[in-house]
Amino acid sequence: MRRKTKKHEQQRKTRSCIMAMKINPDECTMCGDCAPVCPTKAISEGKMTFKVNADLCTECDGHADSPKCMDVCPAGCIAYA
Ligand code: SF4
Ligand code: SF4
Repeated sequence: MRRKTKKHEQQRKTRSCIMAMKINPDECTMCGDCAPVCPTKAISEGKMTFKVNADLCTECDGHADSPKCMDVCPAGCIAYA
């Protein structure tokens, strides 16, 4: 599993207080790898792409050192919101 990097920590410190990830719809291949690893069931399949429910996403706080969805996404299209 990928560990939290300094870049990730910096991103968290400099952005707003929203704790959530976002999926870039232009790059999501709809492989479905992200949804099963989410501990809060925040990821669901939409019509054209998978989506993160910002109300449920905790950035895996208390579950993993880094966002699990971001770690498994083969397209690299999940980032901090
Ligand atoms: S960061 Fe964690 S809680 Fe948020 S959507 Fe990804 S896997 Fe789910
Ligand atoms: S793992 Fe990445 S490419 Fe696959 S469905 Fe999730 S966001 Fe899309």
